[in-house]
Amino acid sequence: MNRSSENVTAARQDAWPAYLSPRRLSRLVRVGALQLGGGRRPLVQSMNNADPHDWQANLKQIEQLAQAGCDLTRMTIPDPEAARCLQKVVPLSPLPIVADIHFDYRLAIAAVEAGAAKIRINPGNIGGTDRVRQVARTCKEHGVPIRVGVNSGSLSRSALEKYGGVSVEALVSSALDTVAILEACDFHDLVISLKASDPALTIACYRELARRCDYPLHIGVTEAGTARSGILRSAAALGTLLAEGIGDTLRISLTDDPVKEVEAAWDLLSALDIARKRPVLISCPTCGRTQVDLISLAQEVENRLKTVHKPLKIAVMGCIVNGPGEAKEADLGIAGGKGEFLLFARGKILGKVAESQAVDRLFELIDNWSEAEQSPPHPAE
Ligand code: SF4
Repeated sequence: MNRSSENVTAARQDAWPAYLSPRRLSRLVRVGALQLGGGRRPLVQSMNNADPHDWQANLKQIEQLAQAGCDLTRMTIPDPEAARCLQKVVPLSPLPIVADIHFDYRLAIAAVEAGAAKIRINPGNIGGTDRVRQVARTCKEHGVPIRVGVNSGSLSRSALEKYGGVSVEALVSSALDTVAILEACDFHDLVISLKASDPALTIACYRELARRCDYPLHIGVTEAGTARSGILRSAAALGTLLAEGIGDTLRISLTDDPVKEVEAAWDLLSALDIARKRPVLISCPTCGRTQVDLISLAQEVENRLKTVHKPLKIAVMGCIVNGPGEAKEADLGIAGGKGEFLLFARGKILGKVAESQAVDRLFELIDNWSEAEQSPPHPAE
């Protein structure tokens, strides 16, 4: 494995939270106009689930994903007709498209020729060395990177026999064996993923892979589940990895609308203070001091914040005794008293407002908040 850091761009690191472990320095790979790895902000990915033969449905879905903050998305290419569909989508797409290829290396070549910005191949089913070499040659000609994407459920029979079943070594070696074939073709525009449906195994695999190569890593848990459990299982694994500085692009796979995957990925990046696109809501758990209907009110604030695109931290607290102080890191907040709320900004009290008007007044402050000024406005009386 070539562990040279010649392509590692340590000089231009995007900001990384001081409380997390130092960022793993990976090579920089270009995906269309995007830069992946090399210390850049982890890119948010999703995958279309529209009919791969319906270019209009795919384009519509990509526009929705872009609106939600997706950086790049993947389309499955199961046959030549899907490659022709991809060719129609690419020029109109606001996002670079990754072509997902299984079984037939000729589809990988067709997808690259159709304009895919990156392709994903699965070493478990793409075929022998010769086929991988042909894919590499086409990708090199077009400047298209390859993701070597290993999944625990689709390891090749030879890997399963060699390693005695699914294990960290089986997954890591399966990926690195394919990487070695590509490197032998002088192909280094690589991204690697090793996904298991078990979050603990996923963490162990990526830790080992991060130790053994400097390629950018696409992190994710496969078959993570429906929205609630899928987000929790993914957050457990990807949150751990990101906190250890591992991960250059992420997908939170859900049995749900792909837009929710993007929202969840941003929520995770935001929770770790890696990047923020929308406001973060913090709210207290309520206790015997609470004299307002804080649960409903916090839910209302959360819903209204979905349309706000400012990197704010908003607090909704249950009492005026502890609320403003406990949430003093919040940019703006409200704390409940008896029939009224205090408005505050970074711990400083701005005034009082009746309970019935508290949410509206909070959103007036949010609307008037300017990132450039870095200070909240005074509340309108
Ligand atoms: S902020 Fe006040 S109401 Fe909320 S948990 Fe703390 S003490 Fe209780």
